[in-house]
Amino acid sequence: ALLRVTKAPADKILGLTAKFNVDLHPNKINLTVGIYKDNNGRVTTFPSVASAQSMLDSSLDLNNDLSYLPITGSQDYQDNVLNFLYRESSNGHELLEDNRITFVQTLSGTGALAVASKLLATFVSKVVWIPNPSWANHANVFQWNGFNQIKYYTYYENGKLDIDKWLKELKDNYSSADPGWPSSIVLHACCHNPTGVDPTIEQWKQILPVIHDLGIIPIVDMAYQGMESGDLMKDAYLLRMCLEYEWPNGLFVCQSFAKNMGLYGERVGSLSVVVPPQPKELKNNIDSQLKKIVRGIYSSPPGYGSRVANLVLSNPALKQQWFTDVKGMSDRLWNIRVEMHKRLNWPSLIDFKTQHGMFYFTGLNPYQVQILQEQYGIYLTQDGRMSLSGVNSSNVDYLCESLHQVVE
Ligand code: PMP
Repeated sequence: ALLRVTKAPADKILGLTAKFNVDLHPNKINLTVGIYKDNNGRVTTFPSVASAQSMLDSSLDLNNDLSYLPITGSQDYQDNVLNFLYRESSNGHELLEDNRITFVQTLSGTGALAVASKLLATFVSKVVWIPNPSWANHANVFQWNGFNQIKYYTYYENGKLDIDKWLKELKDNYSSADPGWPSSIVLHACCHNPTGVDPTIEQWKQILPVIHDLGIIPIVDMAYQGMESGDLMKDAYLLRMCLEYEWPNGLFVCQSFAKNMGLYGERVGSLSVVVPPQPKELKNNIDSQLKKIVRGIYSSPPGYGSRVANLVLSNPALKQQWFTDVKGMSDRLWNIRVEMHKRLNWPSLIDFKTQHGMFYFTGLNPYQVQILQEQYGIYLTQDGRMSLSGVNSSNVDYLCESLHQVVE
């Protein structure tokens, strides 16, 4: 029976780094993964995070308890993250006061998506809509965590965002939907991965009423808060806009500190679910099922990273520094777009209304991507996505010359 275990395809993104590492090309550049690097090509700890770490290391009070955290995480972390998301990033304070937000400290954004998926697929929803294209792991997460069916809405086609087609597809599929089992939909909060192209506020104002009227359940995937504008608060616009509606089957917010605190490997994030006000016991029911889900998979979350994040969120000086750190990162990413545009004259690099964050969707075809890799040692994902964080002043000329060659 063990022979039924066949070989799964390698992870599309992480497999490329393994290949890059053994490439002998003298000018090789890894533009595959979404990890922020500085202008020297190094992954560095944010100053705010490094200060929090040294405070933790030097304080026995803060870091001496290595016992288990509660199933849904530490209370301090919960209070501070909820405060950050629903008091500072949005005006959801009444929801907090009315005890309408369920919270789980999760293993980063992926963990939040997985736990949300498990709850939704078990009790609420059988179909989840994902943008086409999307982060390659979305379909994987929802498939492994219970969804029967994954549907793709047209997001980006022929080099542009297409919300008309997207909304038409949702509407056309409505009649066949089972009303007792509403569909769910993944919405990238900002810095859409892989395209880097987000709907404008005006477009979201057309999108959200359609989703709301169709009774679809929003899953807001907020993995890049702060990396669009450099302002953490400003970038929570989709959360704020979603909170203008009551969602009868809940609003699911999957949030990550991987990118905006550089805590990638520490796995620090959250799932919060805004629960309808009635019936009163619903919030407790959802709390209890989320606990059971977590307990059955990994029992409780890791402690250290959340202590770091908690300190950054709760210490005013560190928090101020964090805002500066995020701004610096977002400014550098924007500057790379500008520098590349100077050399390539590709307008799609610098349209701030729609182009955001760490990724640039080049539009190169798989053959061109392959040539870049084999002849120039430049690694993009196969869909032509380029992680701008791997570009810096020492390699931008070589990169742009190579792109010229490949495109011509
Ligand atoms: N959603 C999207 C769209 C992402 O790009 C990522 C990171 N690549 C995540 C969620 C989750 O990342 P993590 O689990 O590291 O927080």
